[in-house]
This record gives sequence, C-alpha cells and structure tokens, in this order.
Amino acid sequence: MDIPVPGMGNHEISPIRFLSTSASDWRPERGMVQTMESQVQIPAPPQPLIRNCVSCGRSISWDANVCSYCGHDYRVQIMMGPPPPPRTLKPVIGGVLIIIAALLALGMGAMAMTMDTQQVQDAGVDIPEGMTAQDLQDVLNFCGAILLVFAVIAIIGGAFALGRKHFWLVVIGGVFGIFGIGMVIGAILSLIGLVLVAVSKDEFS
Ligand SMILES: [Zn+2]
Repeated sequence: MDIPVPGMGNHEISPIRFLSTSASDWRPERGMVQTMESQVQIPAPPQPLIRNCVSCGRSISWDANVCSYCGHDYRVQIMMGPPPPPRTLKPVIGGVLIIIAALLALGMGAMAMTMDTQQVQDAGVDIPEGMTAQDLQDVLNFCGAILLVFAVIAIIGGAFALGRKHFWLVVIGGVFGIFGIGMVIGAILSLIGLVLVAVSKDEFS
C-alpha cells in the first residue's frame, strides 16, 4: 500500500511501499525515522516488462521492435501501410469512352426498333424472300432490345469506372459497349476505354 509521507513532496520522491497493509498500523508517535527503518521495504528491482508476441505467442520484451523468436516486425503496424497509387484520369477517360459507346448502342437499338421495311431497304439491307413486314419488325425489335440491354450494362460499367469502383463490372460493361454503331465506332471507343481501365486497375477499389 502506498502511503504519502507527511512533510515530503510526493511529487519529488518515489512512492514508498510499506509492509503494513492498513493505515491503522501507522504510528506517528514512534517517530518517522524509526517507523521507516522498521517498516519500509526497499522495492525489488522492477521486473522487465513482458508481453506475448501476437504472432507466435512467446514472451518478448515490451518495447521490442521485432520478435526475437519469429521475426514479427511490430514497426510495420505503426506505419500507415503502403501509400495509395497516384490517381490518374485514365479510369475517367476510359469510363467516358465506354459510356459514349453505350449511348451509340442505345441510339442504334432505338433506331432498329423504329425502322420500317422501307427504311431497312433504303439502308441497303436485302430482306430475305418470304419475310413479311411483321417478321422484319419482330427481328428489328428483338435486336434493338438486345442492344438496349447491352447499352445499359455498358453505361453502368462506365459509371463505375468514373468512381474507380468494381473493376470487373467495368470490364464487362466495356465488352458490352463494343456493340455500338456498326460494331465499329462502338468497338473502337470501348476497346480504348477498356485499355485505359486495364492499365489503371490499381486505382480501383
Ligand atoms: Zn513472435
């Protein structure tokens, strides 16, 4: 039990450990010197502070930087970890290109669904023998609907690229973005976008 010593600044001396465990044993009438001689116990030298290694569990010094048994380096935990890779505009540009390709696919899909037989023939497409106007419309609607779905997937992928998130969804979106106008303009834009996204993969979370 630590008892403050009367008349001495407690902030100036180390706490003195007394043998007695209750304040009733304190007999100031016998004189402080005698009391201290008979009851003061010189504190044992402090035990070296020990902790258990978080890696191997063995006892190591409290302030050890490296575990002497397994080599676990405690200094690594102090550092903030590797710095994040520098941000570039590549994911943003890639995402924009994929979105443009997606909008082209969107326009192409909408155009296909609204074309009539005459417009198809004007575009230089040979309508197979025996195909009715209704059959042609069904095919155009089907193709247009697929393009609209592809476009939506590509737009979602491009949007994720802008936020540098969900790398593989961006890649999927870029692949679907290839189906732009005539699969030429859309493919070029989407492929450039995919390359930009791929080379900046480390920026994605
Ligand atoms: Zn260890």
